[in-house]
Amino acid sequence: MPRVITRKDHILRFEDFDLQPEILRALTDLGYTEPTPIQEGTIDALLRDKDMVGQAQTGSGKTAAFMLPILDRIDPGSKDLQALILCPTRELALQVADASRSFARYLDDVNIVPVYGGAPIVEQITALNRGGQIVVGTPGRVLDLLRRGKMILSDCRMVVLDEADEMLSMGFIDDVRDILKRTPWGKQTALFSATMPDPIKKLAEEELHTPEFVKVASKEITVDTVEQRVAFAEGRDKLELLERFIQEMKPPTMIIFARTKIGTQKLADDLKRRGHKVRALHGDMGQGARDSVMIAFRGKRIPILVATDVASRGLDVSHVTHVVNYDLPDEPEVYVHRIGRTGRVGREGFAISLVANKEKPKLDAVERLLKRKIQRWGIDEPVQPLTPEQIAVAEEIEAAEESGEVDVLVVESEGQPQASSESTVDGDAPKKRRRRRGGRGRGGGGENAGTPVVAE
Ligand code: ADP
Ligand code: MG
Repeated sequence: MPRVITRKDHILRFEDFDLQPEILRALTDLGYTEPTPIQEGTIDALLRDKDMVGQAQTGSGKTAAFMLPILDRIDPGSKDLQALILCPTRELALQVADASRSFARYLDDVNIVPVYGGAPIVEQITALNRGGQIVVGTPGRVLDLLRRGKMILSDCRMVVLDEADEMLSMGFIDDVRDILKRTPWGKQTALFSATMPDPIKKLAEEELHTPEFVKVASKEITVDTVEQRVAFAEGRDKLELLERFIQEMKPPTMIIFARTKIGTQKLADDLKRRGHKVRALHGDMGQGARDSVMIAFRGKRIPILVATDVASRGLDVSHVTHVVNYDLPDEPEVYVHRIGRTGRVGREGFAISLVANKEKPKLDAVERLLKRKIQRWGIDEPVQPLTPEQIAVAEEIEAAEESGEVDVLVVESEGQPQASSESTVDGDAPKKRRRRRGGRGRGGGGENAGTPVVAE
């Protein structure tokens, strides 16, 4: 039986875990004051060497959930590969590696090596030869390195399958099994996933030893903190509507989701022609192009990204304020993942879906999943004042633009952002508290003021 963790009052602090002081210090730097529910539910068991299945949606803090216990138990005196984390995409592998380095900043002699396809293997081999105790990689490249004998797993004591459902849907499941076969018996295995389709359950049954199950049964973060709207439009009218939305909301950072690679590119081109500073992100682009787009978007140098689901799934871009569903996804769960780009860990965001007549059944499915109707976006909506967060983002974009770091493509003026974000009304959970967060990077914002915000 999964242990069910609900969002009640959390008294646990990171100091209550048996983690090295160097790790706690890094968390303080990062503004992590209290563990998220998935962290609360898994860190202790992982530190005790238990196998673990953790189910929690995107943005719930899974990276620290598995990485802190790994870092705590790495032997810095040995250069052997001791922990392997498998991720579905290179973007995620890089992101997990980056996050891990920030957790490890006060640990001496712990090396984290990301390995992924689309980049020269030689450099990755060199990095492995130098001695990486932790490897974060995509299944394809990891298998390649193993087959070439460039990566040795005989001393690997900890294995994590991150975003397991996504690895499944991308067709990596056989590679994952193949890799697991090459790891020593008696290692610890942890599997993290947003959803638990049958093949993932089966994988867990076959590969994990008496695992603990933790499922975060909170109401979806996204549903709590993202203001959602729909608007109805056919064909090209969607573009007009999108344009109006951008004009009205002046979103500081926005991801627009489209269903196909071609549609994504075309929409980005259309918006560019209309003078918006926008980039596309999809699987037909080369690795270099994708990386540079991600860096520019993360660095807030481009405010609008048009992306496919696969290219952007799980990406942690914590400053996204607005999400547009230019097309509704086939699976209602994907809707939740998409709007999970915004409103991450207790922030508020705004999501709008542009729905054509033939997409109405998909909208119904989404509403059934959410167990609520999504309100229509109308000109009557009161314009909400900017949140301190949005002001801070807008200022950073301006500063980046003034400093001349602006990317090559289209450059033109972005007006003063002015957008969304009314407080979430949460009728059925009167006592629910929005979890208090320490500052995440940006000091002084309202959300960091130290008093819990009560959504009622
Ligand atoms: P997931 O893998 O579940 O999608 P991530 O591990 O990428 O989620 O975390 C999402 C965001 O939340 C990241 O920006 C991360 O830095 C932040 N975060 C994670 N844990 C905490 C915490 N305990 N306190 C504050 N922020 C956190
Ligand atoms: Mg993750």
